[in-house]
Amino acid sequence: MTLTVVNPATEEPIAELEQPGREETDAVVARAKAAFPAWRTVAPADRATLLRRLATLVEEHGEELARIESQNVGKPISGARGEVGMVANVFHFYAGAVDKHHGETIPVTGGVAATFREPLGVVGLIVPWNFPLNIASWKVGPALACGNTVVLKPAELTPLSALRLGELALEAGIPEGVVNVLPGKGSVVGRRLIEHPDVAKIGFTGSTEVGRQVMAGAAATIKRVTLELGGKSANVVFADADLERAAAAAPYAVFDNAGQDCCARSRILVERPVYDRFLELLMAATRGVRVGDPSDEATEMGPLISAEQREKVGSYIDGSVAFRGETPEGPGFWFPCTLVEASNEDRVAREEVFGPVAAVIPFEDEADAIRIANDTPYGLSGSIWTRDGARFLRVARAIDAGVLSVNANTSVRVQTPFGGFKQSGFGRELGMHALDGYSEVKSVFVATDG
Ligand code: NAD
Repeated sequence: MTLTVVNPATEEPIAELEQPGREETDAVVARAKAAFPAWRTVAPADRATLLRRLATLVEEHGEELARIESQNVGKPISGARGEVGMVANVFHFYAGAVDKHHGETIPVTGGVAATFREPLGVVGLIVPWNFPLNIASWKVGPALACGNTVVLKPAELTPLSALRLGELALEAGIPEGVVNVLPGKGSVVGRRLIEHPDVAKIGFTGSTEVGRQVMAGAAATIKRVTLELGGKSANVVFADADLERAAAAAPYAVFDNAGQDCCARSRILVERPVYDRFLELLMAATRGVRVGDPSDEATEMGPLISAEQREKVGSYIDGSVAFRGETPEGPGFWFPCTLVEASNEDRVAREEVFGPVAAVIPFEDEADAIRIANDTPYGLSGSIWTRDGARFLRVARAIDAGVLSVNANTSVRVQTPFGGFKQSGFGRELGMHALDGYSEVKSVFVATDG
């Protein structure tokens, strides 16, 4: 059986790949296992040099990687370039982190205890289709920095950039078997990685539904897991905010990547007295989102990833549609930017749509805003727009989410921890925090009393 990879903007096939089965997965895990003893003993400075070389190669091949990602995911080329830039920075960061993630010496009775950060072994990395290379790098970077070997399983729909990354890792001089990329089905390759006794950890990003299966499957071998799952984040706009700025930014916080973003601020909560004014500004800003050919430099939003995704997104449009944008004619899995006036009880406000659909919801006061923002099983991200410094701190502390921004809508930075509360998962990626998820702490006691 082969896997046909399609360009979602044209619906044309762009690659045909072999589909590995359980046996091939076992063979790749065996290769990663064999490579582990030598890789873990590479001197930290040498491991850092190799990661640095990989970062540089990603930079040198930036345009090529951005074009692969744009064609395979339907991402606007300008956004894809930014994502690849981040991938290079992620490898630069973890190159620098290799020799800064160290242990402690702890004075204890009768001697001294020292802690060491040991690698886990072979780690299985399972990633989704929305930010294929970016999310892969968030896992591969810290995993390699800690001395693990990796088996990376990209999503069935978007394997191409990960395959190229595997080639660049070899070109950088990272030894054979350390970075293994195995595209294939989640139900075959993914499942086998989860149950495989020689895989020490699963770093998973994807839906909450599959995350549950990962967690359940990992229990059999007490595998470590990091779960980065879905979201239904709130963009909370108070009446005292700079409404023009908040409204100009809001469309990009939910329609970026055609809404296929775990951090999408897909619930826009607006304080009642400014609701009508804000909705007007929001509609005007949404009208300005440039939807079209992803290879066009000016395009801001491309198509959805697949026909199936388009059907799913369409199923949420049954409420009061305040605004519906335009899409190109012809082939491609297009869906227009859509604003729906909703209550937090509506399905469009409760479930992760994963498409360019935002629910606009009024709230009465600060307590009501916090209540609505938290009235969701998810807890990944969100924004707070206000000019009141004490209020933004109060609200930021009260919202149950892992990554918040104030008077801005960004969630992801190389240096800062990223991850969710509640059913958005657990464990943190990026920054120095990610290294904790790819190492074990070992305590060694040395007796000093004669
Ligand atoms: P998905 O859960 O369907 O698939 C994710 C990955 O898991 C894919 O590689 C898939 O092949 C694999 N998989 C599927 N079934 C499996 C199984 N039974 N065993 C093992 N692996 C399996 O998610 P998706 O549709 O690719 O991505 C969209 C989802 O990802 C959304 O819910 C989104 O919110 C989430 N996401 C979360 C983050 C985050 O950091 N929190 C980031 C991006 C995307």
